[in-house]
Amino acid sequence: MITGLNHLASGKIRDLYAVGDDLLLVASDKISAYDYVLESEIPDKGRILTQLSMWWFGQLADLVPNHVITADVDKFPAELAPYKDELRGRAMLCRRLDMVAVECVARGYLTGSGLAEYEQTGTANGVPLPAGLVDGSRLDRPIFTPAMKAEVGAHDENVSFEEMAERIADPELAARLKDLTLAVYSRARDIAEGRGILLADTKFEFGRLPGGTLVLADEVLTPDSSRFWPADEWRPGRPQASYDKQYVRDWLTSPASGWDRKSDTPPPALPEEVVQATRARYVEAYERLTGEKFD
Ligand code: ATP
Ligand code: MG
Repeated sequence: MITGLNHLASGKIRDLYAVGDDLLLVASDKISAYDYVLESEIPDKGRILTQLSMWWFGQLADLVPNHVITADVDKFPAELAPYKDELRGRAMLCRRLDMVAVECVARGYLTGSGLAEYEQTGTANGVPLPAGLVDGSRLDRPIFTPAMKAEVGAHDENVSFEEMAERIADPELAARLKDLTLAVYSRARDIAEGRGILLADTKFEFGRLPGGTLVLADEVLTPDSSRFWPADEWRPGRPQASYDKQYVRDWLTSPASGWDRKSDTPPPALPEEVVQATRARYVEAYERLTGEKFD
């Protein structure tokens, strides 16, 4: 955390500060796995994810307005000047929005909590899916599976579209959230697929400007908000290799870590080679998606 700035809140990975009427989102190098924030950090992760998010905002700009003012530290307001070096590459100055308390999830492949529900009831957020789907199956049509944002510390709650519409008490807004989420997801899925990466699912957050305009907010289409799978390793019927945390998860659940996932003890620190392999994977995801070198 940066002392001297007006701290508003912190999530597991990012810190939020107020800058005038605006908002500064700062991504750290922290990484979480199995619901724990690990004590080891992944060098450059915050910069990689911020740059990736910025790249996606650019790709999507014709579909939906976004909250970004600038991520260029040289264009930040003067009061941030003393923190330039700390913020460079990892901070986004954004319009501060009235957030819609819905996690707008789109899924193009079935896994995670979507799969868990399907195995119980054959549905996803209450909507029936075809029979015979397995872990990692591609869905013919991407689905919108909203969740209500939970209070700090609690898990978000998956709800049906109808229930979400009722809870926000605005059916028109609910319909727009769904349409925008699916449109943005579909665009991103096509772009990623052309670059050898499957975008299995992702989560967006929207907010409103003072005039009421609906705007895409938060980070977008990063490995922390999405599941990215290498296309050439995709085999439905088992858990897929993920683009980012695979080394971390594999090592944590291997005998080498000595960690018992079912215990209440937090995971141990990561060995240097796991840290470096994980960093390399983030860099690779960034470079494959954007086609640009990560400096
Ligand atoms: P987690 O670590 O589980 O993600 P979190 O969601 O509470 O926890 P962050 O994601 O780090 O923490 O925090 C980002 C917060 O900022 C979210 O609550 C998000 O809704 C909010 N947010 C994102 N963009 C804006 C914006 N433009 N205006 C206001 N709030 C925003
Ligand atoms: Mg969040």
